[in-house]
Amino acid sequence: MREILRVTGLEVELGKRRGLFRHKPGVRAVDGVDLVVHEGGILGIVGESGCGKTTLARTVLGLQCESEGRIEFSGHVVSGVPARQARRMRRAIQYVHQDPGAALDPWWRLGASLAEGLAIHGVTDRAEQKARIAEIMQAVGLDMAMTERYPHELSGGQQRRMGLARILLLRPKIVILDEPTAGLDLSVQASVLRLLYDLRDRFGLTYIFISHDLSVVRRVCDRIAVMYLGKVVEEGNASDIFAAPRHPYTRALIAAAPHLDGVQEGPMLRGDPPSLRNVPSGCRFHPRCPIAQPRCTSEEPSFDSISENQRVACHYWQEGISEKQKPEGQAHATL
Ligand code: SF4
Repeated sequence: MREILRVTGLEVELGKRRGLFRHKPGVRAVDGVDLVVHEGGILGIVGESGCGKTTLARTVLGLQCESEGRIEFSGHVVSGVPARQARRMRRAIQYVHQDPGAALDPWWRLGASLAEGLAIHGVTDRAEQKARIAEIMQAVGLDMAMTERYPHELSGGQQRRMGLARILLLRPKIVILDEPTAGLDLSVQASVLRLLYDLRDRFGLTYIFISHDLSVVRRVCDRIAVMYLGKVVEEGNASDIFAAPRHPYTRALIAAAPHLDGVQEGPMLRGDPPSLRNVPSGCRFHPRCPIAQPRCTSEEPSFDSISENQRVACHYWQEGISEKQKPEGQAHATL
């Protein structure tokens, strides 16, 4: 598959302020991330809240400035170019909010909101607007009569479909889906996932799928990147990672996920991740890692390829977790 998006050495610092009298240091929400997304693929980005998934997505969208690194879309560098030029190139990358209803004006009928989105992007001819809206409503499985309704009149599943309709009108190439099935019951989840596949095939889309629900990620994604405190700690083919996760954090996430059979031998995650203001030295996962060794507290692991399709950042990725796992009570002192 052709490469469509490449992120290299991306760093994003949030909350930094420089003033004449006051200097406030920022936190590095994304720290040296390298990723490649292939056309037509579905890349899942997983991790606990605050791990940097959404900041990474916002930076790719151009809503957040990177401090370091480079973003290339279809072979063109979109970071560090004038804002107007970057915006034009990035129009092909769209975002579906996890609460798509919030992106719609509650006082406007849905048809008016859709037409407004087109007008903002230069499609002002009423007949063309109507034709494009009709095509997209049909594609997402909503009746055209629904354009006369208001956002609060939609069910959760209909809101997800309308969120997709809104961005598909702009003919994107990449769609970033933020927790697209959160809060939906299982049957509605299944119909939304089926729709995502249909739309990908019909419109030639590529998805970046942000989720903390590994059972959904496993069903949907062909590649995954696992993030912890701003860094990608494991990345590769979803089937390889679910069959044999190498990073202790990935193992723990999979073990903690409901509805997943198979790799369940790892421990559940203990404690919460530390604040980005207090990133631990060495391997940042060491205070929670069940197989941490003294070396882990001072030496940061590099992100190495362990096969053609899998990379991991752990000094001891070869160690079976059950061989090295310390007994309860002998876990690392900061646990
Ligand atoms: Fe655990 Fe050490 Fe690997 Fe970090 S480097 S994940 S602390 S074993």
